[in-house]
Amino acid sequence: MSNVTVSIKIDDDLYERAKVRARGQGHTVESILVKLLTDWVGPPPVQPPVPPPEPVPEPEPTYQTYIVKPGDTLSKIAKEFYGDPTKYPIIAEYNGLEDPSRIFIGQVLRIPPLTPPIPEPPSAPVEPPTPVEPPTLEDLNISWIPSPNFNERPDPDNITTIVIHATANSTLVGVVSWFQNPTAYVSAHYVIGKDGKIVQMVKDKDRAWHAGKSEWRGVPNVNDYGLGIELVNLNDGKDPYPEAQYKSLVNLCRALVHKYNISTEDIVGHYHISPGRKTDPRGLDINKLRQDVAAG
Ligand SMILES: [Zn+2]
Repeated sequence: MSNVTVSIKIDDDLYERAKVRARGQGHTVESILVKLLTDWVGPPPVQPPVPPPEPVPEPEPTYQTYIVKPGDTLSKIAKEFYGDPTKYPIIAEYNGLEDPSRIFIGQVLRIPPLTPPIPEPPSAPVEPPTPVEPPTLEDLNISWIPSPNFNERPDPDNITTIVIHATANSTLVGVVSWFQNPTAYVSAHYVIGKDGKIVQMVKDKDRAWHAGKSEWRGVPNVNDYGLGIELVNLNDGKDPYPEAQYKSLVNLCRALVHKYNISTEDIVGHYHISPGRKTDPRGLDINKLRQDVAAG
């Protein structure tokens, strides 16, 4: 509190008598005036009490608590609260339990309410998306021109690898007639022309003669367990693989991968299985082919 000085005019006579009386009581005129003013004004108003802030109502706990007893399991607790022991993962997740089988006696668990199922809107039923099926071999319009150049596989059920070749021959007709020649001693299961036309020449279950001396993942003689696909291409690294041919190749690989459960990582070039001896199919990106087949 700070002080102010107030000037007032009082008759000399009045002042002298007041001074004498004040002094007689051990006061001063000034202190008597202050007391008079104080009594007259009254005590300072009491500050109205600041109302305490409205208490924020505690949100209703959305869960119940449960203290684990001897012999409890989460599924037992789920049955107790939900009537369904298989709903224990709800409690496990709500309590951040990594291993639902590990609860301990005295552990306090929060039991959330079951979320009521969202009622289905009465709109037209949504058609589930039709799964995209890979093309089947039947979808691919494959011509059958048999080659005499094949024998039996050691295990006709063991088909795990797809080998891609380039023929070093410029026409489909030329390749097919060469594979039909019994003195050529070569063949492949499939030949794909530049226009995308696919010709099958050896049945999948049979052993075509395309790989020669070869090995993949440590297993020799890839002809035993591989499927051979010949692409009509000069294999000079410049001759392109036209889009129609590549598309047929991707579709054929997709169908075969699906039918025989072959990993796309086991789609290989001839150069993968006969390194140093073979370079085909030059200019074809096998990694991209694997990705494109897997994307189907
Ligand atoms: Zn080859």
